[in-house]
Amino acid sequence: MPYSNAPESSLSIRTPIATLIAVVVIMAALTWFSLWQTAREANVVDLERTRQAVSNALVEEQKRLSAIAYDNAAWDDAAFALYNPAIDHGFVERTWRTSTEEALLLDTIAIVDANYKIVASFERGTITARDYRKSYGEGFRRLIERAAKGEQSVAGIVHADDGIRIVATEKIRTIDPENADVGKGMTPMLFVASRRMDSAVLDNISQKLVLKGLTLSSRPTVTSVAVTDPAQEIVGWMQWQPNLPGNDAIARSWPIMTGGVLICLFIVGALARFGLRAISEINRSAFIDSLSQLPNRRNLKASMRKAVKGGDSLALAFIDLDGFKDVNDNFGHAVGDQLIHKCAETAQSASEKCNMVARLGGDEFAIFASGPNAPELLERAVDEFLARLTEPFRIGDRSIAVGASVGLAVESGTEISTTELMRKADIAMYASKRAGKMRKTWFSEGLDQMRAQTLEIETKLRIALSEAAFEVHYQPLVDAKKGKMIAVEALLRWNHPEDGEISPSQFVPVAEETGLINPIGMFVLRRACEDALRWPETNLSVNVSAAQLRNPDFPAQLCEVLAATGFPKERLELEITETYVVLDPQTALKVLDQIRTLGVRIALDDFGTGYASIGFLRQFCFDKLKLDRSLVADAISDDPARALLLASLTVARALNMSVTAEGIENAGQADLMRTVGCDQLQGWYFSAAVEASAIDWLVADQAQVARLSA
Ligand code: C2E
Ligand code: MG
Ligand code: MG
Repeated sequence: MPYSNAPESSLSIRTPIATLIAVVVIMAALTWFSLWQTAREANVVDLERTRQAVSNALVEEQKRLSAIAYDNAAWDDAAFALYNPAIDHGFVERTWRTSTEEALLLDTIAIVDANYKIVASFERGTITARDYRKSYGEGFRRLIERAAKGEQSVAGIVHADDGIRIVATEKIRTIDPENADVGKGMTPMLFVASRRMDSAVLDNISQKLVLKGLTLSSRPTVTSVAVTDPAQEIVGWMQWQPNLPGNDAIARSWPIMTGGVLICLFIVGALARFGLRAISEINRSAFIDSLSQLPNRRNLKASMRKAVKGGDSLALAFIDLDGFKDVNDNFGHAVGDQLIHKCAETAQSASEKCNMVARLGGDEFAIFASGPNAPELLERAVDEFLARLTEPFRIGDRSIAVGASVGLAVESGTEISTTELMRKADIAMYASKRAGKMRKTWFSEGLDQMRAQTLEIETKLRIALSEAAFEVHYQPLVDAKKGKMIAVEALLRWNHPEDGEISPSQFVPVAEETGLINPIGMFVLRRACEDALRWPETNLSVNVSAAQLRNPDFPAQLCEVLAATGFPKERLELEITETYVVLDPQTALKVLDQIRTLGVRIALDDFGTGYASIGFLRQFCFDKLKLDRSLVADAISDDPARALLLASLTVARALNMSVTAEGIENAGQADLMRTVGCDQLQGWYFSAAVEASAIDWLVADQAQVARLSA
């Protein structure tokens, strides 16, 4: 087949998915950046805190040494021993030499006077002759000066010749006020304690501050704090291994972060896969009919638009199945679906040279062809399709026949409106339906006018119904032998205020199409039953159209009218047309059975107009056969028509059916019909359809009818 079911355009999920992935990646990057920023800030804050803590620790160390210096210097015994022309060296050595042995809190003690004269000096339990001024440098000089002036708790850090040292010095003095005069006027003696900042001191600080790798260095690093002497000279740098808590946080978070991003990407990926599948399914169902697997209306329109762009002629056939609703009603939707499927296959195989076969919905299909030979190709396909439908389909163990009404339209040029083409094909299809179904009709302007007329009639019919503007007339049926009126046929009359008399053959088909025939038909039945109650010797025939019989409520409504009017059911006869019986024999059999059980008789109207074969008569066992006017007229001059007339009469006799000849317009026809054995005669020769009051006259004066038929 030269067409593809692939939709012309489709929805795309790629853009939203790409956007989603981009959003995930950007969000992840932003989160990373903010985490990194926070980590950096955390590192800086931690570094500052550590710097502060290390500085504080140095101050603490100095304070500790200061406290020791104070304990040793503010002591009356020491003052007595030192502020004495004969310094008590024994006391000095006994008291302080051993204190330096352990070298825990301090490792040197010196007694120095304000002029830097060394009175005693002990270092790790030994007596030394250290030149403190030289060894401890300028910083030390400042400490001594401050202490000599009486400043208390003087401490600092100096760069000694054996390393960085914490030094605390305190003036030796009495604390007892009674001894306040001791040392007065003498050169102040100073107690000097110091501790080299060796690894033990640094380890101690490290432990307290929970720092790793605390050392002293001569050069600054990123993680170091300056150590200054009392002269504010930098004597070294305390440095340590950075903690970098921010880096730790990143190290802890990155697996979670990465996992989160991967999970997000996985979810997006899964969504994308699922979404793509769903979208492709949606795309498919948006362009393909799920039941028949044929392209749908949207797809058809898209393909037609494409062909229009190419400047091709377009030919389109609209197909509406005849009697599909009855198949659904009688056999159920599952069978109906299978029938649609079979029809779709049949249409496809009949239209191989066309562009596309589409299902428009329900029981409607379309075939579309383009190119210079489009109309011929399309017509051939439609003929083939209709020909194949004459054979019933085999569905399960059933054999189901279905017809089709087809409308065709063609357009050429680049200005083609596909909507207009579809409208024309649709109108042509309705024309096929109205013309008796199972046929094709090409669109013509005349159809458009008819369509407009139909719409006009429909509007007027609705108004007439609401205003009770219909009337019922009656046409007598005369006994062929006795010339007596034995029945009347109720015929609907509509006298429109502007258009005058409108023939039932004009408006009944419209009423049938629109469903208005149901209320209109019930009006006729009721009115006819009411009128005919006045003619007790006369039977009543009422026309019932196929659309009414398709209404499942019809038998109940019939019962109700009989009950409401009190009209004797045995006097009522319903006339149905043969098209109804032929197109849907199964339903017809069922409904007609229901009517018969009510005791109402059934006549087959318009026999001889086309479809019903004599075989049908056997199958349905009608009570009466009404020979169509055309058969009656033809029988006078046409031998085959007369042969059909005679054959029908023979079958009717055999099946116990009475026969009425319709449309008798002259004595010749009346004679012939009487001679061939018709039971009743009806036609203008006897009487046209007249008002009920005229029938009152005829009932009262039967002789009038007899005179006519003589
Ligand atoms: P039908 O049931 O076959 O009715 C007979 C038609 O033949 C009537 O046409 C009648 O006026 C016409 N006719 C009778 N004698 C002659 C004659 O000698 N010569 C000619 N040329 N015509 C004659 P009418 O009333 O125009 O009805 C046309 C059709 O409309 C009816 O055909 C029937 O099928 C339908 N119809 C009329 N009334 C109703 C109705 O109440 N319900 C339904 N469903 N259909 C109706
Ligand atoms: Mg009739
Ligand atoms: Mg008729």
